Amino acid sequence: MSFTSSPSYGPQNVTFWRTLLLLHCISTLVLITISTPPEDPVKCASGNTNCTVTNSYGTFPDRSTCRAANVAYPTTEAELVSIVAAATKAGRKMRVTTRYSHSITKLACTDGNEGLFISTKFLNHTVQADAEAMTLTVESGVTLRQLIAEAAKVGLALPYAPYWWGLTVGGMMGTGAHGSSLWGNGSAVHDYVTEINMVSPGSANEGFAKVRVLSEATTPNEFNAAKVSLGVLGVISQVTFKLQP
Ligand SMILES: Cc1cc2nc3c(=O)[nH]c(=O)nc-3n(C[C@H](O)[C@H](O)[C@H](O)COP(=O)(O)OP(=O)(O)OC[C@H]3O[C@@H](n4cnc5c(N)ncnc54)[C@H](O)[C@@H]3O)c2cc1C
Repeated sequence: MSFTSSPSYGPQNVTFWRTLLLLHCISTLVLITISTPPEDPVKCASGNTNCTVTNSYGTFPDRSTCRAANVAYPTTEAELVSIVAAATKAGRKMRVTTRYSHSITKLACTDGNEGLFISTKFLNHTVQADAEAMTLTVESGVTLRQLIAEAAKVGLALPYAPYWWGLTVGGMMGTGAHGSSLWGNGSAVHDYVTEINMVSPGSANEGFAKVRVLSEATTPNEFNAAKVSLGVLGVISQVTFKLQP
């Protein structure tokens, strides 16, 4: 003998299913929001020309929108040098933008007619990892997330890190980014940096651009300035870290 009962569609049951559906929609929206990276901060009206850059979250009044005639995307230090040389020769003002440009300030804004954005979006490779020396050299567009992952591959770690994985190595040098610590070597990311390659405008004799290799041992003043460069000293191309096991 079997008993069957038809489903009840009384008002209480309808409310239950509606609530369940609503909760499902909300949790789906939350998941989509959490896993969606911010928009590209550089937007161009046509191809790579007539561009703007703005802080990707767009919510901080001290962050600004800068305009530029076009944007360049170097993928190597050599490409970066030729971009800086061509812009210097033409007397153009440059500013660095990054993968998410989390903290674009009003400093060194370019103008829309002549200015050039140099984006480190694709300047994002590991140059060298040395487990024995505990050093890691990366290009400046490498994000904090990549940096931590690349260090882990050779058993190394950055002791303190800022709160968001989308920051780039160049941006962290541009702002003196830090984690939190009450003791030890300090929490600024640049406390773990031993060498910075900076591409700057040069004279005609230098081919209009030069790569300066800065370190505590060879150029202490410039090295310390580059650690919080605010984006006004040149384009950081590579950074070497001395990490911990
Ligand atoms: C809401 C908010 C909260 C924050 N909280 C923290 C925090 O808790 N801890 C912390 O340490 N920091 C914090 N910051 C600051 C954060 O560290 C910076 O926003 C971050 O370093 C920017 O990284 P980015 O790669 O997005 O660089 P961008 O925002 O793109 O650039 C920052 C500056 O560096 C310059 N720059 C970037 N790359 C290069 C390069 N390759 N060569 C030369 N110049 C370059 C840019 O021109 C610009 O002037 C916060 C920022 C915001 C907006």
